[in-house]
Amino acid sequence: MSFDAEAKMQFLFALRSRGVTDSAVLRAMERIDRGHFVKGYFTDRAYEDMPLPIACGQTISQPSVVGIMTQALQVSSRDKVLEVGTGSGYQAAILSQLARRIYTVDRHRRLVTEAKLVFDQLDLANITAFTADGSFGLPDQAPFDRILVTAAAEDPPGPLLAQLRIGGIMVLPVGQSDTVQHLIRVTRTEDGFEYDELRPVRFVPLVEGLAKDS
Ligand code: SAH
Repeated sequence: MSFDAEAKMQFLFALRSRGVTDSAVLRAMERIDRGHFVKGYFTDRAYEDMPLPIACGQTISQPSVVGIMTQALQVSSRDKVLEVGTGSGYQAAILSQLARRIYTVDRHRRLVTEAKLVFDQLDLANITAFTADGSFGLPDQAPFDRILVTAAAEDPPGPLLAQLRIGGIMVLPVGQSDTVQHLIRVTRTEDGFEYDELRPVRFVPLVEGLAKDS
């Protein structure tokens, strides 16, 4: 199956019907073919609104969740963005269409290597991907205008809060168990942090340390 006009129309329709309404986000998701980020057996399902398995026992998020997180992040073309949890690289590719510079990290070296190949193939030159434990952020590149975490922590990690610029926004799933997680938006103000709860979600956990294969 290819991302032809018919597939795009259905893909965008599903996104809109699930609450993705920001036109810049929809345009980015129309431009970036999710088929490049889904490998093997599941490629036929790349344009369905469902999460799919990727290597290392991880998942590529559901497109509507990618859309909702991206619009909640309110990215502008001047922004420097950190994504924690590269996974397939799809979310970083969407962000690359909207922001100036994307740093993305994953604890699995293999996922980072594979995602970089796709970034090169698609000529997404404003993405830099590293193998790292993202719960510590990337102190060398901080502060960030926007931070997006695509794995669930119990609470927003302190180093990530510290690496958010004043006026900056971080979107992340938080929750203790596999079943109860909420997407939240944290805005850093002059005086501290403001928290908004957006919706229930389900993500793989944020795990400390590099993976054994890394
Ligand atoms: N954004 C991805 C989906 C991410 S799935 C996409 O678009 O495909 C969550 C990812 O978070 C997994 O790849 C997992 O390896 C990674 N992860 C979990 N804990 C992490 C940590 N502490 N540091 C960096 N990456 C982490």
